[in-house]
Amino acid sequence: MGIAEALRKVQAQIINAAIRSGRNPADIKLVAVSKTVEVLEVIKAMQAGAVIFGENRVQEALKKSQEFRVKIQDKKVEWHLIGNLQKNKARTAVDLFDLIHSIDSIALAEEIDKHARKTGKKQRVLVQVKLADEAAKHGIAENNLMDLLTKIAGMNCLKLEGLMTMPPYFEDSEKARPYFRRLKQLADKAIKKGFTVNELSMGMSNDFEVAIEEGATLVRVGTAIFGERSY
Ligand SMILES: *Cc1c(COP(=O)(O)O)cnc(C)c1O
Repeated sequence: MGIAEALRKVQAQIINAAIRSGRNPADIKLVAVSKTVEVLEVIKAMQAGAVIFGENRVQEALKKSQEFRVKIQDKKVEWHLIGNLQKNKARTAVDLFDLIHSIDSIALAEEIDKHARKTGKKQRVLVQVKLADEAAKHGIAENNLMDLLTKIAGMNCLKLEGLMTMPPYFEDSEKARPYFRRLKQLADKAIKKGFTVNELSMGMSNDFEVAIEEGATLVRVGTAIFGERSY
């Protein structure tokens, strides 16, 4: 299956999952996860209709977006950072990304706010929440979430848009459902407290349909569009 066909299949699955759960398909945006994917393949996806690309490494995204702009000058696409961000890459990340999905500490939020102020940008961000007790996973613990949201709300150059999570990998996507449901509950709680949390970034190739049923507005899909990654 080529990229265009794979993309159409994912888009159809998104629409079906939305309709099945009584949601408007227009409320769900597809982030085509292009990490490790060659620029020519990314361009194929863009020509087939992908408008948001997700990258997990700042350096790789920088190289790719420059190459992309040289080859495709007039097309407006969004670049999202979906991976963990180190503070020393915050400046490049602010330069490069329309939306950063992975804010998980006050220190990182402050660093991004600082660089956004220097650039004169209002940086759109999501807060990544760690819902599973896995030492290796990034994200803020549930208990500290509201505090981080409060701090971000006080930062002039950050625009909080929502929450993101990445459950453990399950063969059976139904097992991811409680995590998605929990993120939605946390978002509702935050909204009640007056925070703007319209976006829920959750669901990957293996489980994006379940995530949509539970309220995802941004699904991050790589393998199902571009095929298995070689590294
Ligand atoms: C790689 C990655 C994805 C996409 O994973 P697939 O299983 O290839 O769809 C989504 N989110 C994050 C944070 C990732 O790092």
